[in-house]
Amino acid sequence: MIKIHRVLIANRGEIAVRIIQTLREMGVASVCLMTEEEAGLPHTLYADEVISLGVGPLRDTYLNQDRIIEIARQTKSDAIHPGYGLLSENAEFAFKVEKAGLIFIGPKAVSIKAMGDKIQSKERCIRLGIPLIPGVQAEGLSDEKLLSAAKKIGPPVLIKASAGGGGKGMRIVEDNGTFAQRFIEALGEARREAKAAFGDDRVLIEKYIQNPRHIEIQVFGDQHGNYVHLFERECSIQRRYQKIIEESPSPIMTDVLRAKMTEAALKICRDINYVGAGTVEFIFSEQGEFFFLEMNTRLQVEHPVTEWVTGLDLVRWQMLVAQGEVLPLKQSEIFHRGHALEVRLCAEDPDNAFLPCIGTILKVAHQNLGPGQRLDTGYREGNGVSVSFDSLLGKLCVHALTRHLAIERMIQALKSVCFLGVKNNRDYLGRILRHPAFQAGKTYTSFVQTFAKDLLPKTLTCEEEALMLALPILASQINVVGEKNGRVADKIPDVFELIRSKLG
Ligand code: ADP
Ligand code: ADP
Ligand code: MG
Repeated sequence: MIKIHRVLIANRGEIAVRIIQTLREMGVASVCLMTEEEAGLPHTLYADEVISLGVGPLRDTYLNQDRIIEIARQTKSDAIHPGYGLLSENAEFAFKVEKAGLIFIGPKAVSIKAMGDKIQSKERCIRLGIPLIPGVQAEGLSDEKLLSAAKKIGPPVLIKASAGGGGKGMRIVEDNGTFAQRFIEALGEARREAKAAFGDDRVLIEKYIQNPRHIEIQVFGDQHGNYVHLFERECSIQRRYQKIIEESPSPIMTDVLRAKMTEAALKICRDINYVGAGTVEFIFSEQGEFFFLEMNTRLQVEHPVTEWVTGLDLVRWQMLVAQGEVLPLKQSEIFHRGHALEVRLCAEDPDNAFLPCIGTILKVAHQNLGPGQRLDTGYREGNGVSVSFDSLLGKLCVHALTRHLAIERMIQALKSVCFLGVKNNRDYLGRILRHPAFQAGKTYTSFVQTFAKDLLPKTLTCEEEALMLALPILASQINVVGEKNGRVADKIPDVFELIRSKLG
């Protein structure tokens, strides 16, 4: 067994802050990275040590593998935690970290290679007898062959990047009379987008399942051949194929279904000797069947949902496993309690195709959070939100005894949280939570499109609108005036809230 003393976090924002919190508890030092534009962000202030990556495109900063490994050496770190996104599912990076004599806090490079790629992971699932969405992989097939395969699968079909993530490189092709033409066009688009985003233009084709749910299983393995699951999360509320609301348990879960889905997930783990935290994602059809979607070989954005319902610290478990320790609990010792919900607060415009928004955060308020409410954020007042990084401002997560109580608690918690100055989806998330279909558990991945009209904001009077526009400016000016007017500045979120509550 090894003892890790210092961890380099090869990530940023809320997840870097989250990792530091556990490291602190464990008495482990943290080293964080930053770019010049990130000065003043919480992760740069909270870490024990911060190293600047300067300025430049991601490939020169957070994706610069050799430089990050070099920094780990220079800072005498003994392990690297990759967080999620960025280098977390890059097998080459995991391999280089191992080769440099450092610990990669995640699975072995071979596991990332086996499961990080959608085509390869599906081939493995076929061998294991795990149900798959009907489809075909496009490797080495001509466009004509692919078109005939797509016709055989039958429209609508989904074209996906094999190396994909975050919904990038996906195209749906429906049967609207010009299927063949649209399919060939979409194939080109998906390949180009995949090449640009992942440097890999391999794609696969799947039957597009209508009105499914997204249900995933959290798994954990240690280096001694022990595997457990930490139940499911349902993440069906999505926009642009990306999750915005997650919960556990799934509103439709039964003991029988859970036993089947967790067994399928653990079968994969056993087959690849999986080590660390992982998530096996499934599509659940209206007919009640589940199909393997992909495996994410890392800590997931929505892990707080699982932390609430199990009472466990997933980052601590990752650390223990990386040190070669046995999983702290056996399956029979892990319990699911109550209901947890998470919403992703993103700097984006729900009224304009959810396009990311930028700006300076003038005011962050979350001082009124109560019991069973948790906010994970990587921003504070004065920080800039730029296009260089993900639009995630924060994750608000609640826990209560039942789904109904968790929804009530989340609606309340959302009111206590605001990020003034940057357009974001807070009110939109509130409208989803209050929607009768959401409350009835009718959560399908098509929810956002199906209820688009119901989710539009109510209109404001001219005076209210003027006040809305003036408040952020007012907030910034009062902040500059200083201490004396501090109390006035504190009132601004309340006034803002009052007006916003009128939006419904
Ligand atoms: P999750 O289920 O954890 O939300 P996602 O696939 O949506 O998983 O990805 C998590 C985060 O990582 C998102 O912020 C997404 O934009 C980013 N991401 C996912 N895949 C990649 C990738 N290959 N390269 C860079 N960022 C990625
Ligand atoms: P990513 O790596 O971007 O997360 P996934 O394969 O996990 O890609 O798919 C992301 C989302 O896209 C899913 O959660 C689901 O909502 C939708 N999706 C993916 N494949 C299908 C499919 N075959 N039919 C219907 N929806 C799908
Ligand atoms: Mg996915």
